[in-house]
Amino acid sequence: MFQCGHTSITGNAVVWSALQGRVSNRLARHFRAAPHRLPASHMPIVSFTFDDAPDSAAGEGAELLERHGGRGTFYLAGSLIGQSSDHWHGLSDDAIVRLHRAGHEIACHTFSHKSSANLDEAAMAREIERNRSYFRAIDSSIRLENFAYPYGLASVWRKPQLAKAFRSARGILPGVNSGVIDLQFLRASPLIDREIDKAGVDRYFDEAVASGGWLIFYGHDVASAPSPYGCTPDLMRHALEAAGERNMPIVTVAEALRRIGA
Ligand SMILES: [Zn+2]
Repeated sequence: MFQCGHTSITGNAVVWSALQGRVSNRLARHFRAAPHRLPASHMPIVSFTFDDAPDSAAGEGAELLERHGGRGTFYLAGSLIGQSSDHWHGLSDDAIVRLHRAGHEIACHTFSHKSSANLDEAAMAREIERNRSYFRAIDSSIRLENFAYPYGLASVWRKPQLAKAFRSARGILPGVNSGVIDLQFLRASPLIDREIDKAGVDRYFDEAVASGGWLIFYGHDVASAPSPYGCTPDLMRHALEAAGERNMPIVTVAEALRRIGA
């Protein structure tokens, strides 16, 4: 199972481990923060991010973004590249090069897509280095500057380690990043048909405008019959048009960090 929202439970040890992970995830929301205050005059911006990532995100997803003058961030795990899972086929090396050259951001999601809750410091360091070298080998100019937690699970123990390795880390805690934000636990809202409708998307955009904040969406595949973790082109188009109607720039996470002075 590769999907970010899915965990399988096979025994007591796993249940206990999952419980520890949940507690660590909750603690990570509040501790070891990398606080950054958005400039008072900050204009709202939006980032579209894709995790894992399916070939449809690199295809239709990237095309839709480009058609609306935007670029996206793709949080990739080297072990999933070109692999089939229950719900989709992973994007190819060629697709990664194309995304990178078109100005999309290639970002880090661990190499083997293990939860940070199950990695000690040495194992996490190996995951990061393996992922960095995987993408460097595809194109030597690819630098992984930003990180997203697999399954959205942060770890209070790994958070300071990741802060040294990356400019930011993104979870799946919904909401707009506004006021004082935590660069090492960026909020992200689902662009996933099972979890949100067009009215829900509009509410996040309105909140971003009201607060001058940074709205981040996360998702996986982009398909007319999406997986439980993905969206339809129709929902994505709606979100892109919602940004256009509000004059909100559609930028990568790396570019958003530059704009907020982080
Ligand atoms: Zn993932």
